[in-house]
Amino acid sequence: MANPIEVKNLSKSYGDFHAVKGIDLTVGEGEILAFLGPNGAGKTTTIEILEGYRKRSGGDVSVLGHDPQSAPLAWRERIGIVLQESEPIAELTARESLVMQAAYYSQPRNPDEVLEIVGLTESSDVRSRKLSGGQKRRLDLALALIGNPELVFLDEPTTGFDPSARRESWAMVEALRDLGTTVLLTTHYMDEAEHLADKIVVIAGGAIVAKGTAAELADQVQAKTKISWSASPGTIHFESAQLLDNEHVLEVEKNQAEAKLYELLTWARHNNVALEGLRVAPPNLEEIYLLLTNEEHADV
Ligand code: ATP
Repeated sequence: MANPIEVKNLSKSYGDFHAVKGIDLTVGEGEILAFLGPNGAGKTTTIEILEGYRKRSGGDVSVLGHDPQSAPLAWRERIGIVLQESEPIAELTARESLVMQAAYYSQPRNPDEVLEIVGLTESSDVRSRKLSGGQKRRLDLALALIGNPELVFLDEPTTGFDPSARRESWAMVEALRDLGTTVLLTTHYMDEAEHLADKIVVIAGGAIVAKGTAAELADQVQAKTKISWSASPGTIHFESAQLLDNEHVLEVEKNQAEAKLYELLTWARHNNVALEGLRVAPPNLEEIYLLLTNEEHADV
């Protein structure tokens, strides 16, 4: 079967401004793809083209086997969309909203099952106006899932959430993965992308600057592993370690981390140095992302 999303050489101009400059994108069945990029990079433009809400200027787009610009109505039933901002109908309960929405679909999911997936069973009879911000976002996701979509677009689904609500949302997205749903996610939280995504695509200035797993992106920018330990008064210095914020920090190539750590431990033993708070931290996605997007900006 063809991939749920296939994009070749997609471009979009607003007048003489080129917002999307010939991008290629593939999302496989059941995959969670995180689409990342700075403000104004072209994410929303691309996603709205994929959802059939904007016309492209050039290139080929296939979403669930159709060109979104000319897809039949039945195609829309196969897609779920959670927008950045939306407001459920205030006077309806969560369950009533779902039952009403289910009527638009030929093969909807059972509303109670959907309430369970998004963790709203306990609040199913509460009117939307009384739901908390996090619960409203859960209802948004429930409304996107009621039609039993094969593909879900999640546009910054956890913006403004407290840390525990974000973790709960992640569990919901993981529940989608278990259902075999394909997900295209945009987010400005790198830990979210790192946690959820099978594949990451970074767009900047309308062009794709990197794609792959977090590890592949790390290789692309040759991000370094950090070995650090606490500095204490009178400690002697190891090689090229820098002293930063009361910590000794060594930055090494990923594939040299083990050898360097061995050297450090041997040195510490010979010199009777206690390496308190010793940490080995591989590069995180935030650092990798900043390197990728800064490189792009340097070219502009
Ligand atoms: P954000 O993270 O802020 O949501 P984004 O990556 O989604 O950003 P887009 O909304 O796709 O970015 O915008 C890409 C560029 O196209 C921006 O420079 C934006 O100002 C411009 N743009 C978007 N929509 C229009 C429009 N309807 N008319 C003219 N320019 C537009």
